Amino acid sequence: MKAHRAMLIKLPKNKCDVNYIRRLMALTNLFYRDFEIWEPDIPKTIQHDLYNFKNYMGSLVFGTKPKRWFARVWVTLKTLRIHQGGAMKGDRGAPVVLDFENNVVRLRRVCRNEHGCSIEVSMPKWVIERVKESGDIKFAMIGLRNNKPYLALIAEREVVQYTPSEYILVVDVNSWRHGIAWGLIKNGKLITWRNEKPDTFLINTFYHQTIDRERKTSKLKKLGYGSSAKVDEIKEQAHARKSKIYRITRDKAYFLASKFVRKALKYRALLVIDDMTEESRRELLEEGLPRDVIKLLMSNLKRFVHQLETLAKWYGVPYEFRRLPSTICPICEHKLIQERDRVMVCENCGFKASRDMVPMYWAIKVI
Ligand SMILES: [Zn+2]
Repeated sequence: MKAHRAMLIKLPKNKCDVNYIRRLMALTNLFYRDFEIWEPDIPKTIQHDLYNFKNYMGSLVFGTKPKRWFARVWVTLKTLRIHQGGAMKGDRGAPVVLDFENNVVRLRRVCRNEHGCSIEVSMPKWVIERVKESGDIKFAMIGLRNNKPYLALIAEREVVQYTPSEYILVVDVNSWRHGIAWGLIKNGKLITWRNEKPDTFLINTFYHQTIDRERKTSKLKKLGYGSSAKVDEIKEQAHARKSKIYRITRDKAYFLASKFVRKALKYRALLVIDDMTEESRRELLEEGLPRDVIKLLMSNLKRFVHQLETLAKWYGVPYEFRRLPSTICPICEHKLIQERDRVMVCENCGFKASRDMVPMYWAIKVI
């Protein structure tokens, strides 16, 4: 099985011609639609790569299918890899050179259309890590995000999934309000479990600070100071706090995905993911929380699930998605009643457990 991971590198904007990259992205869209347009002033090597990229689309990770006409599509390019000792792999004339001897990435005429133009960026350490894990970076992509140029490197690796041991690691994805619950099961027995969430106190503080500032600006607007420097300053502060909340949940998402995959590897466990983000969203709606609070409590959860799956594939961890109910009794399948502090009780057989634990009992029962 082939596994892929993409790594983004920000390119120096002052050294790149954003309009040129935009033009390459538009051409990629046309080539995807089988139009053969050969622009005389664009290097042949790059145009050949654009035209052939459909042949290796399976090796790419994102942005390969244009969503609509004239949409910008990331430009796929071949790479040349120079390893320690000078051993070379790939196309010698490739526009992207990964030099692991000097730890630099060189881009030839992809950022700016000038003869002999080449820019160099230092090789991020995670690229070196992926290569150490026997990943090969056959392709790179260049594109714009919010009008800023980026290079994406796509590492590919041949992976064999291990055969799971007697361990099962269950990951139950909820909103950040209740956190992500996980449990480690050995031979049908739950041996450890925890609930992980970011610092909700901090999120709460930032949230209330944001609201305060938003109220202040609308008050000032009503008084006719809508376009003053003071309003701009307060708006900026509100925005900064909101971004901080997103950063907290994003960092937690990446941290947890890596933690769970490491745990699965340690026990050679089968990873079972219960992605119930939609159910959690409904639960929050029923609680009557404001929509922007719900948005924050759900932020980066999709990213978490995606990262967890990407890492599981990359490290050969066997995994499956499974719906594990939290409102049905795992013993007699009767409907559970929720008591205070999210304790679930079965009136039929007397089963009682925390709501986050119910899916773990289901996992023991069905897997
Ligand atoms: Zn029951």
